[in-house]
Amino acid sequence: MENLLLAYAFMIGLIIGSFLNCFIWRLYKNESILGRSYCPHCRHKLAWFDNIPLFSFLFLKGKCRYCQKNISWQYPLVEFFTALLFTLSLAAMLKAGIYTPLLLIHSWLFIFSFILIFVYDLRWQVVPMVFIWPLIVIMFTLNVLLGFSPLILLLIGLAGALFFALQFLLTQGKGLGEGDIWLGFLMGVSLGRFDLLILALILAYFIGAIVGILLLVIYKKKLKTKIALGPFLASGAIIAFLYGNNLLNWYLHLL
Ligand SMILES: [Zn+2]
Repeated sequence: MENLLLAYAFMIGLIIGSFLNCFIWRLYKNESILGRSYCPHCRHKLAWFDNIPLFSFLFLKGKCRYCQKNISWQYPLVEFFTALLFTLSLAAMLKAGIYTPLLLIHSWLFIFSFILIFVYDLRWQVVPMVFIWPLIVIMFTLNVLLGFSPLILLLIGLAGALFFALQFLLTQGKGLGEGDIWLGFLMGVSLGRFDLLILALILAYFIGAIVGILLLVIYKKKLKTKIALGPFLASGAIIAFLYGNNLLNWYLHLL
């Protein structure tokens, strides 16, 4: 029974991941999310069989059927990771024995949103504010419905925002963007716990440092292009959300 549920979660994740790819693109282009998908190179409308998550990419060998241009690796990767993380979050809920529709909606929206932020900031070095602002309201509302205190949520959100606002002031806006302040607020409000927020930030900077060192080793010299903070913050947020309790327990046992 559990395996069947997890298989469903994976399939739903593939479909939502496919929608997410389309949503990211249309958010950037400021287009309606209604209407058929099309190839970004030749703008040819895609048939349903060009649009099956993962399989179409494999079947078409990563090229558009109509113009033969390469399809971005973003498409299968986002589909796969959305499916994987949807499955892992449901597995964590089943293991803990707490699963309600509201909790599932909260978890999947959390994963959806932070994958979006990851990809968007990686591609265009900017946090999509038109998405972040309504998302803050939705995540806040969902957490209040799940029993969190509105005041505490607000305080944790402010702590997240303040963390980046201070850096923003200290570096005079060179180290990070204004969007990161809102992203800090969103992380606080969606994680809903102060310890998880701190863990997410530590993880983000830790992953950032490792990636920075790897890039330094690979490219042998200092990179001129600035790497956006968003993808690391999104990674930290997702890991803290899914495995925060395990990581904190493990850390406390070390002490
Ligand atoms: Zn094409």
